[in-house]
Amino acid sequence: MEKRANPRFSVGPAELLRQHDGPLTRDLLRTPGRFGLGQLPARLAPDATARVVCGYCSTGCRLVAHLRAGEAVNLSPDPQYPVNLGMACPKGWQALAPLEANDRLQTPLLRNDAGRLEPVSWPVALQQFASRFRAIAERDGPEAMAFLSTGQIPTEEMVFLGALAKFGMGMVHGDGNTRQCMATAAVAYKEAFGFDAPPYSYADFEESDVIVLVGSNLCIAHPILWERICRNRRRPEIVVVDPRRTETAMAATQHYAIRPKSDLLFFYAIANVLLEQGWIDHDFVVAHTEGLDGFRRHVEPFTPEAVAPAVGLEPGRIRHLAETIGRGERVSFWWTMGVNQGHEAVRTAQALINLALLTGNMGGPGTGANSITGQCNAMGSRLFSNTTCLFGGRDFEKSDDRAEVARILGIDPARIPSRPSLAYDQILEAVRAGRIRALWVVATNTAHSWIHQNEARETLRKLEVLVVQDLYATTETAQLAHLVLPAAGWGEKDGTFINSERRIGTIRKLRRAPGQALADFHIFRLVADAWGCGDLFAAWQTPEDVFRSMQELSRGQPCDITGIDGYRMLEAEGGVQWPLQEGEPLAARERRLFADGRFFRDSGRARFCFESPRALPEAPDTDFPFVLLTGRGSSSQWHTETRTAKSPVLRKLYRAGCWVEIHPKDAERLEIEPETMVRVVSRRGALEARALLRETVHEGEIFIPMHAATTNRLTDAQFDPYSRQPAYKHCAVRVERLRPEKGPSQSPREAP
Ligand code: SF4
Repeated sequence: MEKRANPRFSVGPAELLRQHDGPLTRDLLRTPGRFGLGQLPARLAPDATARVVCGYCSTGCRLVAHLRAGEAVNLSPDPQYPVNLGMACPKGWQALAPLEANDRLQTPLLRNDAGRLEPVSWPVALQQFASRFRAIAERDGPEAMAFLSTGQIPTEEMVFLGALAKFGMGMVHGDGNTRQCMATAAVAYKEAFGFDAPPYSYADFEESDVIVLVGSNLCIAHPILWERICRNRRRPEIVVVDPRRTETAMAATQHYAIRPKSDLLFFYAIANVLLEQGWIDHDFVVAHTEGLDGFRRHVEPFTPEAVAPAVGLEPGRIRHLAETIGRGERVSFWWTMGVNQGHEAVRTAQALINLALLTGNMGGPGTGANSITGQCNAMGSRLFSNTTCLFGGRDFEKSDDRAEVARILGIDPARIPSRPSLAYDQILEAVRAGRIRALWVVATNTAHSWIHQNEARETLRKLEVLVVQDLYATTETAQLAHLVLPAAGWGEKDGTFINSERRIGTIRKLRRAPGQALADFHIFRLVADAWGCGDLFAAWQTPEDVFRSMQELSRGQPCDITGIDGYRMLEAEGGVQWPLQEGEPLAARERRLFADGRFFRDSGRARFCFESPRALPEAPDTDFPFVLLTGRGSSSQWHTETRTAKSPVLRKLYRAGCWVEIHPKDAERLEIEPETMVRVVSRRGALEARALLRETVHEGEIFIPMHAATTNRLTDAQFDPYSRQPAYKHCAVRVERLRPEKGPSQSPREAP
């Protein structure tokens, strides 16, 4: 029988291999990219480029956007930028993906009588917003309204929101999700230095002999900063202080796996040894600090022998670290959330500042007590969100400060509240008590990220009006809202961010926002008009108009940026670190503070700040015998994954579902097999997670990534008393084996 030819094989195999056209060939064909971009796939060859700071973390890498017909089609790291030097982490490479997600919100949504969110026009949305907020303000007073903002929007938008809410609409209370990541560092610096002033530049990573990383998994939380350490040619000691053997601890030369939240004891013991051995810089301490005698008396009882049982380390190891620090020529101390998110976080951060002061490691290359921030614009929020402090690091309670801001902005000083806002947790507490009835949430996901999640969600449900402004209506918080406003995201608007080393860099509009979504800047303008206070902000027609106001607001302050010649200079110079005063030449691209030993306190001296350690809010016990640690899961995930989960590439780079690290001996005792599902229970809630048996945690401790939607069911609503930052890093839980033993993997968003 004659065989019929298969049309798919009407050409021979050799022809198939030599096919000269088709999707595969087109995809693979590379062409000179121009603009210094090397070879690129022909379909992605740009006709122009733009430079834009990344919109995820506080490292503040700059990316080159590849534009075709005015729209970004690709991104690559900028080799000229002094921050990232041509490097980017997976989130940066994939930064366009969240903008293209199918669930981008394209119209305002209003909850109807049936309880469903339905599309409405912008005029209807604005009328509803203004009339509902106004009705509550008229009935219960302006303190019944509040806002919660973010470290993810440009500083100019923070300024507009802070001014509109407080000076235009009359609100007293507003805070940001930056309370969750760096409020501790801000308070610690203010008390010790007189201003919230991280002193360093990233060059210090490359110039240090001893790099002490505390509560910081730099390898995955700030991977480009880890790369900066890898460029250090001084063969530095890399010290990690962290209860967990993180990726960074594995790469360190010394790891101190202290018991969770014994860090304050540990650092007081280090100070004790430094003083006992005379490993201090007497000249620096005498000339530039105050309070040493009190500090010396304070740390006297904290000998290595006295703290060793609580810290979980041999006294000899504590002495070894003290000697490493004491004998180091250039020592730098770096901390992130492991310090900031604790029940005595401010004093712990200050214990590190004290070590830097004591040893004179301040103001010189490779030194400093250095807080690494979390979000891309948390530093903008610290100075210009008009929440905790009045614009430019001023004080709401000082009439002179209010008068100066009023003069600069051309408004009546009576419009400026004379007391600071409630903090985030206090705003939620006021909602529970019925004192706050209307809340405006901008670009944050309280119902996922706030500590003690069940209580947070119940709190949001009590509101009479909840307005959420976001890229997506699918976030847990937007799902609870009465009104959702569609916002443009990073890459769809202009403005500036301030990174961890105080560098101000620009972001640019790289594509149009979908549908009727608007830049937050324009939403604030529309809300101002709807409220009837638009005239107050008539001078702010563009983000750069607001930037000029920021410059005036900074004049004479430690963060003075009057010497910056607009966005043009920021782009040309590779960003500019604050301060840069009018007329001051930009001496170097990387600058640090306190080179002259003068601090921002009235005396010009830094202060030793200290206090007796506090008891753990929730120590493990018979019913809840494990300590839960939380932290970042991978360099491909960002916070609640509102954006990173939208990228198929990023999703392939991390383990799906909620997982928990358990020590193998604990697992054996509880008869938990590797990769089986377990139930983790706290006094507040429970979750299911896949068990990973790892010696990365001590016996009696477990670790769950912060990104899972369920993690905060477990966490305990405890706060540092000074910074009001939530203590995510410690609570008591128990672990239960689940049957059947092999369960299906759960997505964080699907877990019960
Ligand atoms: S390290 Fe941070 S700033 Fe740099 S590319 Fe990654 S997320 Fe963006």
